Amino acid sequence: MSTSGKLTLITGPSGVGKGTLVNKLLKRHPKIWLSVSATTRSPRQGEQEGIQYFFHSRDRFDALVASGGLLEWAEFAGNCYGTPRKPVEERLAEGRPVLLEIELEGARQVRRSFPEGFQIFLAPPSFEELERRIRGRGTDSEEAIQRRLLRAQDELKAQAEFDAVVVNDNLDSALQQFERYMGIISRDFN
Ligand code: 5GP
Repeated sequence: MSTSGKLTLITGPSGVGKGTLVNKLLKRHPKIWLSVSATTRSPRQGEQEGIQYFFHSRDRFDALVASGGLLEWAEFAGNCYGTPRKPVEERLAEGRPVLLEIELEGARQVRRSFPEGFQIFLAPPSFEELERRIRGRGTDSEEAIQRRLLRAQDELKAQAEFDAVVVNDNLDSALQQFERYMGIISRDFN
């Protein structure tokens, strides 16, 4: 693998399938280290502290921001999300390939602090398909869904800012493109 110490970032609208793609990538390439974000959002069913997120109160999150503990942070659909700085810097120093899965505003901040990082935008085949996926997840209120859809429209307009755009119409082909962009030569692709 020629990705040692490199930072790759994936963004894309809520519901586009970033989580599924990233999970599959990590299973195939355990060397890749995925950053665990801090958030003020409440845990969804099955989510665990320190695995999907570090779940913080707003006060605790604000204190992290004030102390410079976050590499980037943004508000998304009424909650705050941010990337803890120290673990990212440590993994990069160890030479591990680091992956961030975050939204657009955060991606823009990381672009400024890590201009050498590679940023990938994961796009849905269409807006209608995105809405179907968000609703199909069945975990969010109608209000949260509306906020996510509104935000998705803005995010889709920003595709051209990214180093690469991958359309998630087929998971295996999206994964293959992703691996290629990360510089991973996959021997066991099926
Ligand atoms: P969800 O609530 O669906 O888990 O995440 C909502 C959005 O927040 C997703 O687009 C996700 O990529 C983004 N997100 C997750 N962690 C971070 C982070 O650390 N920073 C930023 N800026 N966005 C994040």
